[in-house]
Amino acid sequence: LVRRELHRLGYRYRVNFAPVPGVRRTADIVFTRQRIAVLIDGCFWHRCPIHYVEPKTRTEFWAAKIAGNVARDDETRARFEAAGWTVLRFWEHEDPGDVVSALVEAVGFPGQPSRTPLT
Ligand SMILES: [Zn+2]
Repeated sequence: LVRRELHRLGYRYRVNFAPVPGVRRTADIVFTRQRIAVLIDGCFWHRCPIHYVEPKTRTEFWAAKIAGNVARDDETRARFEAAGWTVLRFWEHEDPGDVVSALVEAVGFPGQPSRTPLT
């Protein structure tokens, strides 16, 4: 929904794109010119403070799995930022309109739609 609305507003961006050469981590939405990487994290997989509920079975497995995801999230952010990127993270539970507003603020107004596709 966020991507569709951004596109409707005239923004162009990469999707599931690894912005930093040599770092095999992708961001959900990438504004290459502005060097902004957007991550929209799932409430379960990334341990949202509001919605994460510990599974009732295989608790040790899940605790380790989710902790690994969270550590990886922090590392991804650090590696992007070390390469000069701005990282914006949102939760999947956030209102798509609010996310779009925050991104419009961060990215600025969209340029004229490109006549040639991005390479
Ligand atoms: Zn949540």
